[in-house]
Amino acid sequence: MNRDSRIYVAGGETLLGAALRQRLCAGGFANLCGAPRDEPDLTSAGQVEDVFGEARPEYVFCAAGRSGGIGLNQASPAELILDNLLATAHVLDAAHRHGVTKLVYLASACVYPRKAPQPLRVESLMAGPLEATNAAYATAKLAGWQLCAAYRQQYGERFVTAIPANSFGPHDDFSPDGGHVIPALMRRMHEAKVRGEPQLAVWGTGMPRREFLASRDVADACVFVMQHYEGKQPINLGGGATLSIAEVAGAIAAVVGYRGRLWFDDSKPDGMMLKMLDATPLRRLGWRPSVDFRTALAETYAWFLQHAVKEGPEHVRAAV
Ligand code: GDP
Repeated sequence: MNRDSRIYVAGGETLLGAALRQRLCAGGFANLCGAPRDEPDLTSAGQVEDVFGEARPEYVFCAAGRSGGIGLNQASPAELILDNLLATAHVLDAAHRHGVTKLVYLASACVYPRKAPQPLRVESLMAGPLEATNAAYATAKLAGWQLCAAYRQQYGERFVTAIPANSFGPHDDFSPDGGHVIPALMRRMHEAKVRGEPQLAVWGTGMPRREFLASRDVADACVFVMQHYEGKQPINLGGGATLSIAEVAGAIAAVVGYRGRLWFDDSKPDGMMLKMLDATPLRRLGWRPSVDFRTALAETYAWFLQHAVKEGPEHVRAAV
């Protein structure tokens, strides 16, 4: 991939898609296909075909498909699995038929079996049952990896799968019930601060631990993988901060300035108790994260105040 290459980020409006577009532009890769506001409906084969036919991308990052937190996974598993299966199938098949030079497919850390040894190594993939709270979405992501593997095997395509740690940053889904833990708690704490609420419920026991990477670090790792990794096995994008949900909630409260009491609502699910990727292969190739967790939290809150809060309820808008 060089500065003149035609590059398409499928799912350019998602958390990771937006970070990728920004990283590519900042790195001088100016020949990006499409604009996020004109993003086709990737679940429509015809619309994906039109993009590839018109833009003829040489390099593709596939960040396509809906995703969300534990709440959305439980409320809408059918929507999540279908959206991801369709979007991934359409993008990968179009990339194959239109002769794309190389594609990086983004899976998710939830593809690992619930009881896989930690830190999570790619050898554990498909070696046990998935975590029940996100099995539908994870199955679609595993299917995406297998599609890449099948196109590699049958047609020799350079389709590479990358598995990012839990990511967060600007352009995330800040909905209180559907978002991942960081954006969802950020919105809920912001609203609790504005309303002067004395306490706030954090879902689960607060004890699960997650590895977090800033979306701009994930984007940087994806570009690195496009340039330096050709392997058949997926590659973990990790090396970030591993924190308990209680620590995450405390860090968000500090950034938001919420001084109420945090309590843990253990009627809500914890999901996996630990999710931490073994990032040794990526580190050996020469990549490591560079964004500090709290700096990235502050950037995310600044973006939320500027953009996402506008979509919030009237009283929250009025208070900003
Ligand atoms: P996961 O990594 O797939 O489990 O996805 P999430 O980001 O949704 O959740 C991570 C952990 O944060 C789980 O243990 C949740 O119970 C916990 N959590 C605490 N408060 C919240 C919240 O407001 N929203 C979400 N999504 N998770 C929360």
